[in-house]
Amino acid sequence: MPSVPQRYLHGPGPSPVPESVLAALALPCIGHMDPQFMRIMNEIREMLQQVFQTENEMTLPCSGTGSAGAEMLMDNLVEPGDICLIGINGVFGQRLTEKARRAGGTVHNLTAPWGQVFDQDEVVAAIDELKPNIVMLVHAETSTGALQPFDRLGDAVHRHGGLLLMDCVTSLGGLRVKIDQWGVDGAYSGTQKCLSCPPGLAPVTLSERAMHKLNHRKTTVNSWYLDLRLVGNYWTGIRAYHHTAPVNMNYALHEALRIILDEGLENRFARHQQAHESLKSELTNRGYTYASDPQNSLPMLNLVNVPTEIEDEAAIRRRLLEEHHLEIGSGLGDLAGKCWRIGLMGHGAREECVQRIVTALDAVVP
Ligand code: PLP
Repeated sequence: MPSVPQRYLHGPGPSPVPESVLAALALPCIGHMDPQFMRIMNEIREMLQQVFQTENEMTLPCSGTGSAGAEMLMDNLVEPGDICLIGINGVFGQRLTEKARRAGGTVHNLTAPWGQVFDQDEVVAAIDELKPNIVMLVHAETSTGALQPFDRLGDAVHRHGGLLLMDCVTSLGGLRVKIDQWGVDGAYSGTQKCLSCPPGLAPVTLSERAMHKLNHRKTTVNSWYLDLRLVGNYWTGIRAYHHTAPVNMNYALHEALRIILDEGLENRFARHQQAHESLKSELTNRGYTYASDPQNSLPMLNLVNVPTEIEDEAAIRRRLLEEHHLEIGSGLGDLAGKCWRIGLMGHGAREECVQRIVTALDAVVP
């Protein structure tokens, strides 16, 4: 077996994985067509519906990381020539733009400075002007710590016949994600953030409206592997073999979802908020400042300015890892070298973790 060190994961993901989720990975592998695995698949879908707060029939874990989930939405829901309105206020909006273009969409971007969010009234005005087929924003921008409000967009998108899509990779399981109430037609996440499961699956959900568009496409879906009419037949329909599902990863997701629902969604969101407030108060008492917009900042991803007196921030992160087994994240893109991204995700959103982080920082920051 490989030799693997113990790490305290407080970067932008993966997050700490509870023992029982790791134990689920080690359960006996059974066949992906075994009726007992089908039962587990059904249970996963039901639990995912609860976590996404949706009744969408087409709710399943895509085999692949979050990026595969993004491509599953784009490849299935964007038809060549579709007008796509995509927000860019960090790394992940940029990637969505690229994926929508590759799916044949004609992309128009809304842009906001990194760390800022989009005013919903301005998004609605842009929708009314452009009448897009697809509108897509990132709910929790992991590159900047910004939390995008989503609750007032659905009606505007739908009155022009479009679909509202959401990246909730970092928010699902740590913040309210109300798919049905907000009128979101397609969303994708990843297992390695607030679901506290290893990376490898991308929970995806599609509304009836999105399924109607998919079922009436004029062109075939470009990707065979991600074609939801084929994947959906394996997960929800006639159970036709499509690909060999990563059986043990699905056990792990099953256990991670069980833990989330046992805790209760609202309790879990409150725990993320408490851990964030505690970390923020510990850090600001020590003179650190936050780089994210205080009105719209994520609890699970703390964007902290690197103190100006530190010349080599990478050396600090290296010492945290080597001497304290603690991982925090660097800034991405425009924020590289300027900020740290400190994650308090899922099982890692606890007071004990906050204290471990500040103790380690105290030891290595001069
Ligand atoms: N979207 C957001 C907001 C993310 O934070 C990430 C990963 O960090 C992704 C998409 C891509 O997910 P993955 O790295 O699992 O492919």
